Amino acid sequence: MADFRDQIRGPVVPPAGARRPLGVGDVEIGGGPFGRWQRINREAGIALGRERMESSGVLSNLRWAAGEGEGPYRGYRFQDSDLYKLLEAVAWEHGREPAGSYRAFVAESAALLARAQRADGYLNSHYQTVKPDRVFAELEYSHEMYCAGHLFQAAVAAVRTGCGEGAGTPGPGGEEPGDQEPGGELLAVARRLADHLVDVFLTGGHGGIDGHAEVETALVELYRLTGHRPYLELASRLVDGRGKGLIADVGTGPLYAQDHLPVREAGTPVGHAVRQLYLDAGVVDVAVETGDASLLESSVRRWEDMVATKTSITGGHGSRHDGEAFGERYELPPDRAYNESCAAVASIHWSWRLFLATGQGRYTDLIERTLYNAFAASTSADGTRFFYVNPLQRRTDLVEDAYLGRRREWFACACCPPNIMRLVSSLGHYVATADDDGLSVHQYVPGLIRAGAITLAVETGYPWDGRVVFTVREAPGTARTLRLRIPAWSAAGDLTPGPDGYAAIRRAWRPGDTFTLDLDMSPRLVHPHRRIDALRGCVAVERGPLVYCFEQADQDTDVEDLALEPGTALRVVDRPDRPDLAGVGRTVLIEADAVRLPPAPAAGLPYFTTPAGLHTDPSTDLSTGTRTTATAIPYHQWDNRDGGAMRVWIPLAQGRTP
Ligand SMILES: [Zn+2]
Repeated sequence: MADFRDQIRGPVVPPAGARRPLGVGDVEIGGGPFGRWQRINREAGIALGRERMESSGVLSNLRWAAGEGEGPYRGYRFQDSDLYKLLEAVAWEHGREPAGSYRAFVAESAALLARAQRADGYLNSHYQTVKPDRVFAELEYSHEMYCAGHLFQAAVAAVRTGCGEGAGTPGPGGEEPGDQEPGGELLAVARRLADHLVDVFLTGGHGGIDGHAEVETALVELYRLTGHRPYLELASRLVDGRGKGLIADVGTGPLYAQDHLPVREAGTPVGHAVRQLYLDAGVVDVAVETGDASLLESSVRRWEDMVATKTSITGGHGSRHDGEAFGERYELPPDRAYNESCAAVASIHWSWRLFLATGQGRYTDLIERTLYNAFAASTSADGTRFFYVNPLQRRTDLVEDAYLGRRREWFACACCPPNIMRLVSSLGHYVATADDDGLSVHQYVPGLIRAGAITLAVETGYPWDGRVVFTVREAPGTARTLRLRIPAWSAAGDLTPGPDGYAAIRRAWRPGDTFTLDLDMSPRLVHPHRRIDALRGCVAVERGPLVYCFEQADQDTDVEDLALEPGTALRVVDRPDRPDLAGVGRTVLIEADAVRLPPAPAAGLPYFTTPAGLHTDPSTDLSTGTRTTATAIPYHQWDNRDGGAMRVWIPLAQGRTP
């Protein structure tokens, strides 16, 4: 197909509609946290990922499948997907700033995949080497389509950024080299596998569904790239096949893989969080491509219920370690919050598709919350260590919990690090959209936005500072509308948002025109919904898009003995003279008046016949020695120092006031 979609070098390119996404290279992110994440991802993260493809066995598994090496197979059965996610990240990096080494990596990887691929198009190193007689026979946990989906997304990225064009080798059946296919060999490999899936699952009568959703959204994007409608039809079949018992129960119950109800009837997100979130990204894609309003409405309904009852203040999802799953409504424990980094990625994918479909700012608001908090916290300040799980509290006795306690370079199950990398590399895609009437800005980052005939320079110290100054560099000379998202947490001065959450400014813009957005960066004390039992009696601190936390390194007393004073002022501690905190970098701290609670009994049952704990002892005089200061740091910057305790939600002292 040759239409506007061919010009967009981004991960999600829906049909022509009111909003057109931009490519990763159309937005130059020139600083701020987004800019820093992209820089360290490019300089450190991707290099780490490439090294790990070798050391973790991903490449040796594929060589074995290609008949060029030996076993044993190493890692989980979905190990191939680590490479696919890294390839996608590399392709988006190439789209931001081309590099020969990226093209070479994609070409080498594509050639290896082509050699490993079976003649019929099947490709999965685990099943080809370890369980060749179980291909597509245990889809409930095989991840075969999940891996395929990540390959499709990598191939789409490689084509859209020109990173996949290189020398090809003959296909496994001896057909012409992959470079006969516009877009290169990675796309050729991906299409052979996608065609095989169509042969087996759409026209071949195999009624199975992968227990881990992901391929649905990937198939739709591959359809968008190629125009080959069976890919969309297969995605549609997989979406609507859920809730019919087609996924065998492996002891986790039907909710785990969202097989409890047809998606059109499911009212709330359930089960394994990443599966649900990827599934819903695919639901929106299918709904948009087929014009299926009721399908789209079901996804909107689940999103709204998730936001209202199952979302951490950081934007994280998944309350349960058991099954890496959504919990019940209002089951949002801070200490046991799972909040997998992959769930943050998947949530952003879903919300972005809903925004493109509806234009509603509540979706881009959640993206902002998730990006700056649940997602940003996943990566260390130096970009080389990652969280798998992102709790809102850490006690000191959990610090050495090796797998989950602190960020690590990599994981035996390494789904998160390369997933983080592919989103960081494509951040520019989520900043703004173009439309026939102008452009909309969703995320405020310093740099340059090129959207059709309009080029906009953005200067801002966001999220540390709320002033955003826009300068028109190019404009068509006729009236155009610039829309700015006004976050729900902010008043916006003289700019009043419409019902969609966006303020519109319509003018015949000329180069040199400027306008300023001032967002309210006053710190906020936030109280939880009364039904969230795990947070009762606690408050949190936010400023701008940032959620704060109290980390032990910044306190003069045990963080578990701190309670904020009712009515405390929140003082912003921005130190322009010394902006960088050791180990953390640029930050803005917030101080609050606090109480050092009296010592708690350390022996005997921790239950009492009179209220205890948060109530300061009647004999305690808050003015002589128990008052102190609690200092909060942005949540995304925690765990960059000594590994001490941390809590986002902190008790509010009750009883006496001084
Ligand atoms: Zn993960």
